[in-house]
Amino acid sequence: AETVVDGVNLVEQEELSVVQLPTAKTAFEKLQSDRKTLPVYPYREELLRAINDHQILIIVGETGSGKTTQIPQYLHEAGYTSRGRKIGCTQPRRVAAMSIAARVSQEMGVKLGHEVGYSIRFEDYGMLLREFLGEPDLASYSVLMVDEAHERTLSTDILFGLVKDIARFRPDLKLLISSATLDAEKFSDYFDSAPIFKIPGRRFPVEIHYTKAPEADYLDAAIVTALQIHVTHPPGDGDILIFLTGQEEIEIAEETLKHKTRGLGSKIAELIICPIYANLPTELQGKIFEPTPEGARKVVLATNIAETSLTIDGIKYVIDPGFVKMKSYNPRTGMESLLVTPISKASANQRAGRSGRTGPGKCFRLYTAYNYYNDLDDNTVPEIQRTNMANVVLSLKSLGINDLLNFDFMDPPPSEALLKALELLYALSALNKQGELTKVGRRMAEFPLDPMLSKMIVASEKYQCSDEAISIAAMLSIGNSIFYRPKDKQVHADNARSNFHMGNVGDHLALLKVYNSWKDTNFSTQWCYENYIQVRSMKRARDIRGQLEGLLERVEIEKTSNPNDLDAIKKAITSGFFPHSAKLQKNGSYRTVKHPQTVQIHPSSGLAQVLIPRWVVYHELVLTSKEYMRQVTQIKPEWLVEIAPHYYQLKDVEDHLVSKN
Ligand code: ADP
Ligand code: MG
Repeated sequence: AETVVDGVNLVEQEELSVVQLPTAKTAFEKLQSDRKTLPVYPYREELLRAINDHQILIIVGETGSGKTTQIPQYLHEAGYTSRGRKIGCTQPRRVAAMSIAARVSQEMGVKLGHEVGYSIRFEDYGMLLREFLGEPDLASYSVLMVDEAHERTLSTDILFGLVKDIARFRPDLKLLISSATLDAEKFSDYFDSAPIFKIPGRRFPVEIHYTKAPEADYLDAAIVTALQIHVTHPPGDGDILIFLTGQEEIEIAEETLKHKTRGLGSKIAELIICPIYANLPTELQGKIFEPTPEGARKVVLATNIAETSLTIDGIKYVIDPGFVKMKSYNPRTGMESLLVTPISKASANQRAGRSGRTGPGKCFRLYTAYNYYNDLDDNTVPEIQRTNMANVVLSLKSLGINDLLNFDFMDPPPSEALLKALELLYALSALNKQGELTKVGRRMAEFPLDPMLSKMIVASEKYQCSDEAISIAAMLSIGNSIFYRPKDKQVHADNARSNFHMGNVGDHLALLKVYNSWKDTNFSTQWCYENYIQVRSMKRARDIRGQLEGLLERVEIEKTSNPNDLDAIKKAITSGFFPHSAKLQKNGSYRTVKHPQTVQIHPSSGLAQVLIPRWVVYHELVLTSKEYMRQVTQIKPEWLVEIAPHYYQLKDVEDHLVSKN
């Protein structure tokens, strides 16, 4: 058995020989001495003892106390990585996983990807959850730390159930559940009364300010507040953190702030604007952690990621508009939506707390005190109770967990959502009538995708177009950031885009065409610029496609290409998306076939501009001003009966047949 190289020694040697001697050493030494100033440090021995004495430990400590970056290092130093074993630490957010892994490798003085690494999926879908498929007892791990447990994401909640079970037959596995809030009793109760280890935090008083009246435009109010702070307080006083709901809002705020500070010229101190959100390119993510230069002030524009996952030093002012983008799911219609929603009181308090870490802070809530006390919920509803469960049910079934109604959930999902998921998986032939996984289902479970996409890929074998199916799936996984439409060049952008829709092929085939055209240019960046395509998104699609290609091999689906038979490709799409069919109405809107509701083709669809198809399948429904179908492809109604005879009967598609004759 080999031992893991001691990271610290390794780095010192590396740095001494490569970089200028004195500075390199000081930087590294500073990192080491900084580690010792974190609130968790005085509890190092006590914590290691508690972990040694108990199999499961709940660890609670303020954000920034050093739980995530330090505890895995303590465990490593204490020998938990000997004999090639691993320490796992799960993060609900991709960006946090990357940034924390980078930080820990820096502190240990090792190259990222060697002693310290991270794995992320291309979907926000628990990576560890997928590792279970290959290693159900997590044999290679000595410790598993389920971090940010209070966030109660879907993956975290499922992990709870799985690791609790594993702990029973792997007495040597240590389980740490770490969290920032104080509701530790609930976690302890769930984990068979596991002891709670509290890391006393430092917390300075935070002054809370509310607005006197509700704000009509919180984005504008946030910007005005930030500028007010900036001009009325000296920059050395502290940095500003603004919580916004997503990339789009952050980009608008960034532009507006730049514009306004330019207007003020040299009358004010420099304001350094640092955005942080999930899709921010990795090379830009580090900027938020760079120390603010003397005489300047940093303003961080962040999504909820800065609420607890990432700690940014030096924040004195928090601006909290009180909103978050949150997923919700309606099991009756099967519709999932991402809506800007008011935060909970717990969230508001976490946000305020970000300002009081290094000294007394101030939090500006852009809502009224009345609002806070009377309208906000106490806690955020766990994701498991507001999401589509199809994906999770398929994963659990493939882990051999059949009785989902009796799965040990900390808070169970609504039974309606479970039933809906089972129904869908049965319709996709992933489960049989007894609810057992079929061969199709087993293959589908290998793909870390929505079950409908997985089904499309598995079905593409029959239509000899697996090559096209994985390209389409990869492009759909990117979301809506493929096409780029700058305000001053909208006409050019739309023209470029319409080229891909030539022949009214539908959105799926247009995406395929984008991918293949890019590939034909040997992945040229210039080509992307010329066609108003986001090169970053395309690179991600290429990575995802690569992973899917590997998975095809794993489930033994031959890679075959059938580029000219568009109907074959559309039939593969329909094999996955037949539950999402809709039919044109006399008034020009559409009606979904199975659970009838009125929907429209999204204006961004290529089909919306040119042709009005009678029958379509769509990728997803989104609710904005209306209920829109996004990513739409025209189909022939008889395909529905041909492909899914157990789901559609002739009468479902017959009025079309009648009216045609
Ligand atoms: P916790 O998990 O308890 O919230 P962390 O371990 O994430 O705390 O953070 C501890 C400290 O490490 C933070 O206060 C911050 O100073 C520092 N830190 C964490 N991540 C980074 C990073 N990527 N870059 C620079 N400093 C970081
Ligand atoms: Mg943490």
